[in-house]
Amino acid sequence: MRAVSIEPGKAGTLSLENVAEPDPAQGPILVRSLALGVCGTDRELIDGAFGESPQGRPRLVLGHESLGRVVESPPQSALRIGDVVVGIVRHPDPVPCVNCALGEWDMCRNGGYTERGIKQLDGFGAERWRSEEEFLVKVNPALGIAAVLLEPASVLAKAWEHIERIGRRARWAPQRVLVTGAGAVGLMAALMGMQRSLNVHVYDRNDAGPKPDLVRSLGAEYHTRFPAFEPDIVIECTGAPKVVVQAVTGSAPGSIVCLTGLGGGQQVASFDAAKLNQSMVLENRVVFGSVNANRRHYDAAAHALARADRDWLSRILTRKVRLDAFAGAYEEREGDVKTVITFED
Ligand SMILES: [Zn+2]
Repeated sequence: MRAVSIEPGKAGTLSLENVAEPDPAQGPILVRSLALGVCGTDRELIDGAFGESPQGRPRLVLGHESLGRVVESPPQSALRIGDVVVGIVRHPDPVPCVNCALGEWDMCRNGGYTERGIKQLDGFGAERWRSEEEFLVKVNPALGIAAVLLEPASVLAKAWEHIERIGRRARWAPQRVLVTGAGAVGLMAALMGMQRSLNVHVYDRNDAGPKPDLVRSLGAEYHTRFPAFEPDIVIECTGAPKVVVQAVTGSAPGSIVCLTGLGGGQQVASFDAAKLNQSMVLENRVVFGSVNANRRHYDAAAHALARADRDWLSRILTRKVRLDAFAGAYEEREGDVKTVITFED
């Protein structure tokens, strides 16, 4: 079978190669790929910024945003042949730490977790892959290929869960949400804000391309300048230092700011730490970071996607690239929101 792989830590090693069938040690459930989402993390892996191959092997199969169909499942499994599933990216560390021991591997304390397509575990960018049942999430087949958005959505389901847990420290009645960045991650944040009946605003520097329409057809407001109002909740999805500073310093008293973005490491932005400290203390403000997701968040995300407008979801998939033309999927092009590699015609 064919798989997209890299040699981690070395730029320019991306290739599509014939590899052995998936190792049964990866789990009893065999999945045939339908689609694979591409994101900034994949591009950083391709550039050699980070990544680790499985022990004793030079190459790592890429891909962590999966969608596939079960083709082999043992009789005792609740998953049936034909079920449409998404694979969970992170697996608990082997120690395990207190969080991983409870299935909260997204909160791993010792950094020893593994991640499919990123850290020590082959990813989902292969025609077939295997998994343990506990790392598979069933999705509504009516979503079609748009169900490939489940992994990015799971990251936002976690962010929202944590925002609400923090919010319950006192009477919690948020009204305005600001999402920074209208990529797939920001759109998932906005979708979940709308599903909570909140007043959702999305800030993104693009005034052309599909993003403004995607935001507006959700019923949210689109801004190409950082809005002047003070939101009760901010979900920062760009990782751009300048936007992070605006997000952290521009929210309302009692507000919660969740940082989910990465990247922008080369840029520098400075701010007045004393002033920030003062407003955080005097106004009970919270700034926290959130990464990854556990099974509970994948389930919540599957529910959110199932409730979303199907046509809207499919419009997020702005470019579909067949596996034989895989390299083009990793290029960033004007108007891209989410690019997917497809495995079937
Ligand atoms: Zn752990």
